[in-house]
Amino acid sequence: MADNPTQAIENLLHEDRKFPPSPEFTARANAQPGIHEAAAADPIGFWEREARQRISWFREPTVVLDDSNPPFFKWFVDGELNVTYNCIDRHLAAGHGDKVAYYWEGEPGDDRVITYQELGDEVNRFANGLKSLGVGKGDRVAIYMGMVPELAIAMLACARIGAPHSVIFGGFSSDAIVDRVEDATSKVLITCDGSWRRGKVVDLKGAADTAIERTDLIEHCIVLERTKHGVPMVAGRDVWWHDLVADQSTECPPEVMNAEDLLYILYTSGTTGKPKGIMHTGGGYLAGATATHSYVFDIKPDEDIWWCAADIGWVTGHTYIVYGPLANLTTSVMYEGTPDFPDKDRLWAIIEKYNVTQLYTAPTAIRAFMKWGVEYPQRHDLTSLRLLGTVGEPINPEAWMWYQQNIGPVDIPIVDTWWQTETGSIMISPLPGVTTTKPGTATIAMPGIQADVVDEAGNSVSRGEGGFLVIRGPWPSMLRSIWGDDERYVDTYWSRFDGMYFPGDGAKIDEDGYLWLLGRVDDVMLVAGHNISTMEVESALVSHPAVAEAAVVGRKDELTGQAIAAFVSLREGFEGNDDLLAELRNHVATSIGPIAKPASIVFTPDVPKTRSGKIMRRLLRDISEQRQLGDVTTLANADIVKDIADMAAAATSDD
Ligand code: ATP
Ligand code: MG
Repeated sequence: MADNPTQAIENLLHEDRKFPPSPEFTARANAQPGIHEAAAADPIGFWEREARQRISWFREPTVVLDDSNPPFFKWFVDGELNVTYNCIDRHLAAGHGDKVAYYWEGEPGDDRVITYQELGDEVNRFANGLKSLGVGKGDRVAIYMGMVPELAIAMLACARIGAPHSVIFGGFSSDAIVDRVEDATSKVLITCDGSWRRGKVVDLKGAADTAIERTDLIEHCIVLERTKHGVPMVAGRDVWWHDLVADQSTECPPEVMNAEDLLYILYTSGTTGKPKGIMHTGGGYLAGATATHSYVFDIKPDEDIWWCAADIGWVTGHTYIVYGPLANLTTSVMYEGTPDFPDKDRLWAIIEKYNVTQLYTAPTAIRAFMKWGVEYPQRHDLTSLRLLGTVGEPINPEAWMWYQQNIGPVDIPIVDTWWQTETGSIMISPLPGVTTTKPGTATIAMPGIQADVVDEAGNSVSRGEGGFLVIRGPWPSMLRSIWGDDERYVDTYWSRFDGMYFPGDGAKIDEDGYLWLLGRVDDVMLVAGHNISTMEVESALVSHPAVAEAAVVGRKDELTGQAIAAFVSLREGFEGNDDLLAELRNHVATSIGPIAKPASIVFTPDVPKTRSGKIMRRLLRDISEQRQLGDVTTLANADIVKDIADMAAAATSDD
């Protein structure tokens, strides 16, 4: 880092910091230079090759893309497969039964090793158990569990028998269960007695019971014993997992599924409003999951210990803890609890224990690590790491640099991956070994994906300009629709721009053609006639040494249209006072321009986030405009919201 702090900021906020791939990495990389160009020349041919090479089909597809009824696209239409055959059976047949599928680490410190053979046996026993309860092809099964191996087993058992799963994040309340069970009309709910979180039991069964009482849909509730804290069981309705599988056979032939049969429904995390039941089908999804997992993370099944530290309740866990890694014969780490239990070095202890080679986490986690300080990673040997990934929100350049400099050997490749529940797999990301990275940008679209930035009228913007991110044309792992609401599918994603998929995010394209994700389009502020992205102001704030995390929103202002309101949490050892406040405002003014200077800054111990760790700007806007706060139960840190509201009311330092 430069001695002169101002110069360091320049480097971080501007686009001149570049990290080309090292020749050593490229020499062995799964993705080779030229891959983007070759795919761009024939995207459909690219995906056809990926799908044929990576998937073991029961019946090879003859049609790659059916685009006769846009935007209801279909891929590999007459192909037949079972996703679990690809994740398990073919590996066993090839003699990999003893290979480890999961190293599982419980929060209290217990651990389990699960081989592919054991995984296959457990999946089949549980699949037979589901059948014994009358679950069959097409039935939607709700799953509400903690991060235990049985969560993956339950999903795979559903896929085995052709019953689409609907996983509900274990941190959600009973309201979320009711909504999702009713929307998908699920008759079976799989849960745990409880899960461990920061040393305490989360009473999953209690929440499940409350939910089941409020809907008459659930006929059976299967309960895995994890915390053993003693939960009531309702006779005839509830059954223990271990009782259900006790007498079941380890043989269960995989159901033959059409490529376009529903694999699962997953509700979006609800950052912007009512969650949408996103539908994914088996063939195209598996093609996207396996190809991206291999290219983006450079997975070498014989050598790597892969760790996606997300929760399976989000799409990241579906694609990069369960389906992608298993189909790619990967050994993964799975962790039950929080990163700060029993101490703030838990992640680093796990990496050291299992010799993790690739770590995939979220900017929100990285900013927490920055806030806690480097002494925690420094306690451990992290030299096994050879690649780092991030997903979920834009990553501030400062956080990107911190990740690269402090976690594992310096200068290992960082992949900032942009995608959504809807896209099924990674859409924009550097490919290690191929793409020169720059802190703060997800760089360029994946091979076979055409991303662009357009203006209001749908015309491509010139380099150096911002606008709306769009994806031109369909791709295999795209959502097929919103469950029960085709109209909302068309309206939300395919109506704003003719013939283009609109994800709802803003982006800027730089002089190199790199894509800078700027957050949701609703978050772009209009201050005195200038478009300013919340992301840019946040990144400027985070580039100040005192700042760990910043959330920025535009609040209504008589004079300027919108005024910039910032919420800032400080790194350990710094104190929020008037001097720092003035310094931060000037810091933003010098980094971006006087127009971007926040009108108010509130120091807060934490900023409100959704359970998936995303900054909840909708709520901060309400706070800033002193509106009645809506439902905050889906927030991870609801208790701090009131404090922030009080502080925000007090802070309005205009000049
Ligand atoms: P909802 O759609 O219900 O409001 P959500 O959009 O938060 O919820 P997800 O599908 O989990 O639900 O999140 C996808 C969104 O996360 C993207 O649209 C984008 O805004 C953001 N995102 C994900 N990865 C990145 C990234 N690497 N850079 C910038 N933004 C990202
Ligand atoms: Mg979304």
